[in-house]
Amino acid sequence: MNRRDFIDKSSLLFPSMLVSPKIIGDLDVKKIKTGNKRISSPYVISTWNVPEANLIAGESLDKNMNAIDAAIRGVAYEEANIKNTTVGNGGSPDRDGNVTLDACVMDENGNCGSVLAVENIVHVAALAKDVMEKTPHVILAGKGARKFALDQGYKPENLLSPESKIDWLDWLEKGNYNPKINVENHDTIGMLCRDKAGNLSGACTTSGLAYKMQGRVGDSPIIGSGLFIDNEVGGAVATGLGEEVIKTVGSFLIVELMRNGLNPQEACEKAINRIISKHKGKPNFQVAYIATNKNGEIGAYSIHNDFSYTFYKNQTNQNIKSKSVF
Ligand code: ASP
Repeated sequence: MNRRDFIDKSSLLFPSMLVSPKIIGDLDVKKIKTGNKRISSPYVISTWNVPEANLIAGESLDKNMNAIDAAIRGVAYEEANIKNTTVGNGGSPDRDGNVTLDACVMDENGNCGSVLAVENIVHVAALAKDVMEKTPHVILAGKGARKFALDQGYKPENLLSPESKIDWLDWLEKGNYNPKINVENHDTIGMLCRDKAGNLSGACTTSGLAYKMQGRVGDSPIIGSGLFIDNEVGGAVATGLGEEVIKTVGSFLIVELMRNGLNPQEACEKAINRIISKHKGKPNFQVAYIATNKNGEIGAYSIHNDFSYTFYKNQTNQNIKSKSVF
């Protein structure tokens, strides 16, 4: 799928069941209890042009799903989408041919879970939630995360698609063992959801940099870097060159800037400018952020101008071009 191509929201069909039943869940079971709380309009904001994933999450929220489950259900679409070479099944491998996935989730109570460098498991955002809920830990990595997944009933799969294998073999010939780092190479899906109870949660899932060194982990599963939620303030999620996001703890920085009074757009711009200020001239890598606050305002900003985000609210799903430095 060419993710830079705008897909008209009106042409969207509800996607086929690429998502496993475990992830789809039962909407009736997962209904939020709003009690006497004011019912707010739910919405979803995701990195890049991900109409199907965003729509799945948005429609789930409209049917009263809570924010964390809607985010996991939404990103699961891209995890299962073999044509997306940056997330889940079909993701680009590391330089040795291993597809290793990273993901994290964070809910409205500040609970979080994360998995790093997991092999053979497609739905790593759901796995991160299982780490959050079913272990005394926040992070499981590598073989331990895989073992935990198998114990939880996840089915092992070969995630290296024939197409990704061909591209990798081609890169091996020409790549000179430099991992691919360029503005076209970052399509992690990060998703922020607000449910009808007004609660914010998020998920972030990726196969990381194509042809990375074995064991390399980026920002996406690092709470505070790839994703951060404070339900009293707002949430933020990152995509792009993870090394640069980690150095400035980007998502946490954005939430703290919002806590100090900036709106989401201003906070995203300040966080991107923090990265830019550490480099001379025009950086040859991309970083992008999206953010939202408790008032329902949203913001997005990137270094280069090829970034867009997808926004769902009131049955309308839109791909919107982000403002950028260059
Ligand atoms: N942030 C991801 C990483 O560095 C890459 C991406 O956004 O595509 O692993």
